[in-house]
Amino acid sequence: METEPTKRSRVAFIFPIYDEEDNIDLLHRTVDEVTAPLAARYDFSFLYVDDGSRDASLDRLTELGARDPRVTVVELSRNFGHQMAVTAGLDLVDADAVIIMDSDLQDPPRVALELLEKWEEGYDVVYAQRRSRQDPPFKRLTASAFYWFLRKMAAVDIPKNTGDFRLIDRKVVDELRKYRERDRFLRGLVSYVGFKQTAVLFDRDKRNAGVTGYPLTKMLRFAADGILGFSTTPLRMITRMGYLISLLSFLGVLYVVGVKLFAPETAVPGWAFITIAMFFLGGIQIIMLGVLGSYIGRTYSQVQNRPLYTVASVRTGVPAEDRRSAAR
Ligand code: UDP
Ligand code: MG
Repeated sequence: METEPTKRSRVAFIFPIYDEEDNIDLLHRTVDEVTAPLAARYDFSFLYVDDGSRDASLDRLTELGARDPRVTVVELSRNFGHQMAVTAGLDLVDADAVIIMDSDLQDPPRVALELLEKWEEGYDVVYAQRRSRQDPPFKRLTASAFYWFLRKMAAVDIPKNTGDFRLIDRKVVDELRKYRERDRFLRGLVSYVGFKQTAVLFDRDKRNAGVTGYPLTKMLRFAADGILGFSTTPLRMITRMGYLISLLSFLGVLYVVGVKLFAPETAVPGWAFITIAMFFLGGIQIIMLGVLGSYIGRTYSQVQNRPLYTVASVRTGVPAEDRRSAAR
């Protein structure tokens, strides 16, 4: 009996939806087409999270659910933002692997197959990394500045040019569920959690229909979540600034002593005292702010309440073979 039917892995897609009425049908059709040849090996399901859309997205999704039993529709009570919509999806999904994708067809569905291949090779997180993108120059510029800055500052290695388009193994999903911080930067959390991660390169397409749900204000907030959520460097910079300014006051003292000794006729009475005192006190104040900052930084990371560590596996000294026979 060697042809024992292997159990099909369950793979779920998560689609956050915000005002995507003209994309939903095409998206579902494309994903369905792309995954159909693999239906023998995988048990696919599709989780659509409606993030308080103001258009007919929810109606489209309801119709979709009526046609395709593999579809689940989650309706959030209002617009909570992309990261929260994906979080809701991750909390509710039940599958061996999850693929997170944007719903405007900017993330090409065929790339999902490459993500699956890497998963089969044993990777727990496969993120799709943009080789090129079709966005307007402004978005490209701000995005690359953001990633440069983030990689300089953040305490974890967050891969550049990756969005949330990625495959995540069930065990990573289970870990992510433990991270309940409010200002979420999911791609950072996924890096933070660890496990075996790899990249697949792809060319990002243009948005199919509709407009971006990330206007500049939301983008800046998102960037701040990324940087503040994964580093307390800005707080530590305060202290450095304070030392720098105090140093200036000492240089000022040297300058004044020099003037008094070598060119006393040019000395302006009272000037030295005021200027040096200003730099000195300014420096002390900023250093003290930095001291407050370092406590705030610690309070912040304590309040984030992240799990202290994640165990990938525990191995004992007994080889697996012997353990099994011992159990028998
Ligand atoms: N999205 C969401 N809630 C929001 C904004 C966006 O669920 O408040 C979804 C949106 O429907 C899309 C994905 O997040 O599936 C990415 O958004 P978008 O394409 O607008 O961002 P961009 O590609 O312009 O950065
Ligand atoms: Mg988009």
